[in-house]
Amino acid sequence: MSSNFTVNRICEQCGNVFQAKTTVTRFCSGLCNKRNYKAKVRNGKMATMDEVVKKVMDAKDPDGTSGEFLNVKSAAKLLRASDKMIYHLINIGKLNAVNLSKRKTLVYRNDIDKLFELPPVVQLKELKPPPISECYHMAEAQKKFNISEGALYRIIQRNNLFKFQDGWYTYVAKADLDRIFNPQVQNG
Ligand SMILES: [Zn+2]
Repeated sequence: MSSNFTVNRICEQCGNVFQAKTTVTRFCSGLCNKRNYKAKVRNGKMATMDEVVKKVMDAKDPDGTSGEFLNVKSAAKLLRASDKMIYHLINIGKLNAVNLSKRKTLVYRNDIDKLFELPPVVQLKELKPPPISECYHMAEAQKKFNISEGALYRIIQRNNLFKFQDGWYTYVAKADLDRIFNPQVQNG
């Protein structure tokens, strides 16, 4: 029986099992100790190098908008929207987000790009034109609401109103235009 206390340990540097005199001995030899120290220094330098790389990247991309993940501020900048709008888009499921912590939410850049993809045109196919008697043709609508042709088309486009062609004329549902020009009619 040995009077010396020894314990099997695994050297943190070379991975070999060795007999250590204390439970906190980390290395099998002075050489491994030295090697580990050198590696530490090297890693330390690498960490600093990471910081340098980050600084260079930040300088190239001050808004932080070119990475795969964006924080809310950067996403807002990219969309020229407010932070609030980004959180809203996240809440309604238009943007996927990861909460790394309470204050750090990351948005997947692909999702932002997806916002700009055209939606499928399924909706238009499913819409049946209302009967002509329930529609204005363009000239009629211009006269009724006293607006120019250009203004009328902009309103139709901006409000995504359904318009359709029948013979020479283009029609829009009366209800749609009435709702836009006389919103109180619907509320009252
Ligand atoms: Zn070793």
